[in-house]
Amino acid sequence: MSRTIHDISLPLSARLPVWPGDPPPAIVRTADLAAGAACTLTEVHLSAHAGTHVDAPAHYLAAGTTVDALDLDVLIGPAEVVDLGDVAAVDAAVLAALDVPGHVARLLLRTRNSAAWSAGDPSFRADFVAVTADGARWLVQRGVRLVGIDGLSIAPLADIATPHIVLLSAGVVVIEGLDLSGVSPGTYDLVCLPLRLVGAEGAPARAVLIGPA
Ligand SMILES: [Zn+2]
Repeated sequence: MSRTIHDISLPLSARLPVWPGDPPPAIVRTADLAAGAACTLTEVHLSAHAGTHVDAPAHYLAAGTTVDALDLDVLIGPAEVVDLGDVAAVDAAVLAALDVPGHVARLLLRTRNSAAWSAGDPSFRADFVAVTADGARWLVQRGVRLVGIDGLSIAPLADIATPHIVLLSAGVVVIEGLDLSGVSPGTYDLVCLPLRLVGAEGAPARAVLIGPA
C-alpha cells in the first residue's frame, strides 16, 4: 500500500526567521572531511522555539509540565488540517464557522502564514496570523487536545500571554512554526516528536502528516 508523507516542518538554517531577540539557528561544522578531518561533525545552537516546535505547559505556567514529559499519545494520531484563507486572526467566530466535526482532537490551522514560508523570506513578520484569547477558549471548550499553527507563535503580538495560558493550562499541546503550504485541508495522521530536552519548556520537532485518510 502506498502512502504519502508530507513534511510540515520548517528547514532549520541560519535563513529561518526567528522570534525577535532569539538567535538564528547556527549549524556549525566543527570538523570537516573536506578539510582533512577523520569525519564531519556539527554543533547546533538553537532556541528551543526555533522553527517547527512544541510548547509545553512550563512555557507559561510555573509548575507546568516540561517538554520531555509530554504525553506522546497526543502528538501522534489523526489530525484535521483546516484552511482559514486570508483571515487576519483566528477568533472563536472563525473557528466556529469551520464546522469541524466533533470528534476532531488535533486541529492544524493553515493560514496565510504558510505562504510566507514558501516565499523564503528570512525576516520576522509582526503581522502573522494567530489565535486570539476567545479563539483559545473556544478550542478548550470544544475539547481539542492539540492545536498547530503555521506562525512562530500561537498567540498574536498584541496578546502573547493569554492564548498560551488558556491552552497550556487546559493541557492542550501547542505546535508552532508548521509549514502547511504543501497540504490540502483534510484528515491525516500526524506524527510530531519534539526533542526530549529535559526540563525545557519547549523543543524543536519534526512533524509529518501521513495521508490524507
Ligand atoms: Zn513556542
